[in-house]
Amino acid sequence: MTYYPVIGLEIHVQLNTKTKLFCHCLNEYAPNDPNKNICPFCTGQPGALPVLNKEAVLKAITFGKAVGATIPKQTRWDRKNYFYPDLPTGYQISQYDNPIVEGGQIDFYIEDKKSGEFTPGSVELTRAHLESDAAKLLHSNGKTYVDFNRSGAPLVEIVTEPVIHSSVEAMAFVNELQLLVRRLGISDADMDKGQMRFDCNVSLQNEEQHTAGTLPDYRTETKNINSVRSLGRAIEYEISRQSKLLDEGTRPTQETRGWKDDLNRSESQRSKEDAMDYRYFPEPDLQILEIDESNMPTDLPKLPSVEREEYLSLGLNLQAANTLVNQPALGKLFASTQAINPKLTKTVANLITSNIIGVATKKEVAPETILNAQEIIEVASLFAEEKISNQGVAKIVEIKVDSSDTVEQIVVKNNLLQVTDDGALAGFVDDAINNNPSVVEEYKSGKVQVIGFLVGQCMKASKGQGNPKRFSELLREKLA
Ligand SMILES: [Zn+2]
Repeated sequence: MTYYPVIGLEIHVQLNTKTKLFCHCLNEYAPNDPNKNICPFCTGQPGALPVLNKEAVLKAITFGKAVGATIPKQTRWDRKNYFYPDLPTGYQISQYDNPIVEGGQIDFYIEDKKSGEFTPGSVELTRAHLESDAAKLLHSNGKTYVDFNRSGAPLVEIVTEPVIHSSVEAMAFVNELQLLVRRLGISDADMDKGQMRFDCNVSLQNEEQHTAGTLPDYRTETKNINSVRSLGRAIEYEISRQSKLLDEGTRPTQETRGWKDDLNRSESQRSKEDAMDYRYFPEPDLQILEIDESNMPTDLPKLPSVEREEYLSLGLNLQAANTLVNQPALGKLFASTQAINPKLTKTVANLITSNIIGVATKKEVAPETILNAQEIIEVASLFAEEKISNQGVAKIVEIKVDSSDTVEQIVVKNNLLQVTDDGALAGFVDDAINNNPSVVEEYKSGKVQVIGFLVGQCMKASKGQGNPKRFSELLREKLA
C-alpha cells in the first residue's frame, strides 16, 4: 500500500543569553565543571523566586519577527507539572496557551542528493514559546549524578504545523532553522552541546485520507533526537514501522517513543492511556508580560533566505548560493569582490565555492584567508579574458595557500599564461591526431564527441597552457 507521511516537529533551541531564564546564574556550557552555575532558584529551593531575563524575551521576539510571526501584546507563564529527578521543583516554567510567538513560516530549499536538483520548501510554524530547561542526569558506574548547570537555561520551543512529508524535507527545514537562529545571533545551535534538540510527530495517511486532506486518527511522538542525521533516521524508522503495522491491518498505537541513537531505532515509552497530564496553571510568581513596541528589537540582520535569493538573482546556482549563505566569511568576501568588479559574478562565485573551498579543505585552512577580494578579481579577470585556463585557476589557488607571491608572479613563474598563438598550438594538435589514429577514425565515422578526448590530449601535452577552445577549433579544421 502507498502511504503519505505527515510529520510535525518540535524543536528546542537554547538561547545564548548571558544568564539563565529566571535567575542570575551564568548560562554557560561547562560539562567539566558540574554544578558551577547554580543558585537557590535553579536548584529548586523552596521560596526562591524567579526574575525574568529580558535578553531571553528579546531573543524570542527576534525569532518571531524573523519568521513573520505575530507577537502578542501580552504573554503569560505557566507551570508544567511533572516529576523527574532532573526537575527538583516538580514543575517547569513554560508557556501554555499564550506563547510569545504565534505562527510564522520558514522557507528553504530541499536538495535531491541523487539528481543534485533543488526544490523550494516551506514550513508553517504553529508557535514558539519560552521555557526553562531541566538539569542533566549523568549515569556512570551504576550511579546517577545531577548537573544543575543546565537547569533554568532559556529554551525556545518551536512547534511546526504537520506539513512536512519526508525525512529529507524535515532535515532541510531544521538545517535552515539552525542557519537562521545563528544568523540572528540568538543561539549557537550546537547540537553536540544539546543546544538544538528535536521531537518528531509522525503518522501515515492512506490514499483516501490523502485525497480528502484529513489526518490519521493517531500519531506517534519520537523524543530525544540530538542531531539532524538522527532526525532523518528516526523519521525513516517510524515511517517503515508504521507502514508494516498498517499493511498488517493494525492501527499504530498513539504513543510517545524514545529514540535510541546507538540502536538506530525507537522504543515505546508510554501510550495514550497513561499520557502525561501536566496540570498546567498560571505561574503565580511571575506577572503577565506586557509587550509593546519599545520592547521590540528593531534591526534584524539580513536573513539567510533573503541573502540566498539575492545570490540567485545574480545568476549563481543554488549550490554556490547556499555555500555563501552557510559561510558568512565567504559571503562577505564575495560581496567585496562585487564592489570591485560586479561583472565577473559567476566566475568569482565558482572560484570561491569550488576552487578555494576545495584547496582550503585539503590544506585545512580558513577559505577566506587564501586570496583577498582584489586577488580573486585578478584571477577571475585572467580567466574571463582566456589568458589562463581552468587548470591555471586551480593552480594559482593551490600555490597561493603557502606563497606570498602576487597573482602575477605566480602566473609568470609557473608559465600559466595560455598559449593562443596558432603556430604554437598546431604542434600539439598534430601530435594528438597522429598518436590517436583509432580516435580519429571514430571522429571521422561520425562520433564527433570524441573531440573532447583529443582536446584533453592537447591540454595535457601543453601542460594546461593551450586554450581548449582554440584546440577544439583547430582539431575540427584539421579533421574536416
Ligand atoms: Zn540560578
